[in-house]
Formats: sequence, C-alpha cells, structure tokens
Amino acid sequence: MKLTPRYLWSDNGTQNMRAAVLEEHGEPLSIEAVDAPEPAPDGAVVDVEACGVCRSDWHGWQGDWGWLGLETQPGQILGHEPAGRVAAVGADVENVAEGDHVAVPFNLGDGTCPQCQRGHSNTCENVMPLGFIEEAQGAFAEQVHVPSADHNLVALPDGVSSVDMAGLGCRFMTSFHALAHRADIGAGDWVAIHGCGGVGLSAVHIADALGGNVVAVDLKDEKLEKARELGAVETVNAEEIENVPGEVKAITDGGAGVAMDALGIETTSQNSVMSLGTRGQHIQVGLTTQDEQGMIHLPTDAMVMGEIEFIGSLGMPPTRYDEIFRMVATDKLRPEAVVSETIGLEDVNDKLDAMTDFETVGIPVIKN
Ligand SMILES: [Zn+2]
Ligand SMILES: [Zn+2]
Repeated sequence: MKLTPRYLWSDNGTQNMRAAVLEEHGEPLSIEAVDAPEPAPDGAVVDVEACGVCRSDWHGWQGDWGWLGLETQPGQILGHEPAGRVAAVGADVENVAEGDHVAVPFNLGDGTCPQCQRGHSNTCENVMPLGFIEEAQGAFAEQVHVPSADHNLVALPDGVSSVDMAGLGCRFMTSFHALAHRADIGAGDWVAIHGCGGVGLSAVHIADALGGNVVAVDLKDEKLEKARELGAVETVNAEEIENVPGEVKAITDGGAGVAMDALGIETTSQNSVMSLGTRGQHIQVGLTTQDEQGMIHLPTDAMVMGEIEFIGSLGMPPTRYDEIFRMVATDKLRPEAVVSETIGLEDVNDKLDAMTDFETVGIPVIKN
C-alpha cells in the first residue's frame, strides 16, 4: 500500500506512518501504514530523512543470527542506518531537542552499564540492535524511536547531510572502529580487505586514509574496480585465483600486516587469517551466515607459530563518531563515494533481492 500525504490519522487518533514491515523471512517486506512511535521518557522520535540498506538488513530479512538471539520476528521493521531530525523527545531527555540533526548508531546502548560508562557502548550489556528486536523497531519507516536518547543520539556537524550519514551507516563506523581503534596500522603497512561489499569498500577507503597499502579481494571485477577508485593499490579476483592467501602473500612480499574479513563466511575468514604475515592482525567484522552459525575452522597451529592475532570488532561507540566527522570535514574520508544510489522506501525489496546474489555495488540509501 502506498500512502500519501505523508501522515495519515487512524480512527483511534494515533498518528500513522509508512514503514517496510517483515511478514515472513525471505518474502518481500510489506510497505504499509503502522502506528508512528511515541517517545519513551528517556527516548526520542526521529524523522528519518535517510537510511542505508545493508547486508545486515538482508540477514535480518533472511531470519539469520538466531544463534545470537537476533532472529527477527514477523512485524519487525528493519533498517538500522538512519539519520534525520528529532521530532519529539521524552520528558527526561536533557541534551537533545526537537529539530536537532542527528545520526543514530545501530547498536543502541543503555548508557548506564559498566561498558557504556567506560565508553564502550557498542558492547553494552543491554545492547539493543536497531531493527532486529521488537523493542527497537527499525528505520525503514518515516520515523524511528531511539531509547536513551541523550546517550545514543549523535549530533551531525554542518556539512554532513542525512544521506551522507546514512551512506556512512554501520559499515563505515564498523570499518573505522576496526581499523583505527582495534587494529594497529602503521604507515605503509599492507592491509588486505576480504570481501568488497559495503563494509569492505568502506574499509578500503579508511585503510587508505589511515596510511595503509590496500589489497582488495572479491569475486566481482566491478567491486574491485570500485575498490581501486577508493584507494586499493592491488586487487585479487578470488574467482580467478585459486590460492587467494598465496596471492596476497606474493603481492605483499610475505603477508599483510592487517587483514579483515568484511563478509563473514568461512572462506573469507580463513583467507584473511592465512593472508597475514608473522604477527599479523586479523579483524573479524562480518558476522557469519546460516552455513557457519558462528563457528569457523581456523589454521590454529599456523596462528600460534606466526603469533597471529584474531580480533573481533563491533560497530563503534557514538562517543568516537567525531573522529570520522573531522576526517570527513577535511575530505580525507568521502562517505558519498561509497553511496551507490538513493532510492525510495518502496524500492527496498529490490535491493534486498539483489543482495542475495551479491549484485549491489556500494550502498543504496533510502531517502524519505
Ligand atoms: Zn550499556
Ligand atoms: Zn548496516
């Protein structure tokens, strides 16, 4: 159902909004009118101006990640990469006001647990993954509710539009935290990025900006071409090369210093670990699929012998978004370079479908 004008009023007086709602895993999301959110006392309602469409949405759509307690249920609104304007705040909110231009992190923290208190709200003990659980309905909609708004909402600086921010999405934040905070990239270090979807392409761009020499690995030439545009100095087409780690080791003269699995399947994770040189760091950013269900075989003895580190990295605490904004302001990072197109809410099903066969290049962003 397509609704105009922008808001309708239902019989019971509740304000309605358009949203893309999950009915059944793998079936098209239903574009329909639902109740618009009301702010909780500590929460805020944000008018969604833009929202990225990402592989995590695809996983949510497929009903993956039950092994993480994140299997989506019918009625869930997906979408976790919104930016927009605050429409209303709850009575207890102090630092956010109606009209503020904000970004919304995808892993919402409670702001009070020990992890949040130490600045690690990406690993909050009561984390609420936006768009995956009933209490955190997502942003493939005209409005989204954000709990603990003082803690979670990030003010956008002038010059970063909602589309820019949605283009940054979870992928850019995730890749930045992984490469700038979790890994230790030295000047000129070889950085191998395995998988050039949204996270991977963002990682290519960020690793380049941080001074690394990037080798990008993917199965598709057009994604590798995009990786070159974003700063990769070498590319490996894993469809054509049988021994991907061997190829990366040859290019990097002994192995990469840092390698990232930006996809989350067994092959890319193993290839990433095996493409490292001695004392290299593997960063696992991709969460796994139904095939692995969180378990991947690793070359353990080689990791011991080579003192290889295996590092997990999740999202990014909102307190550190400013680092990215400063690099965007000086053009060292160009999030718009990763955005492939802006689409309407009604086009989201086409994009999720295309992701099944890895046919999207860069990031589609929904613009309301
Ligand atoms: Zn917390
Ligand atoms: Zn995402």
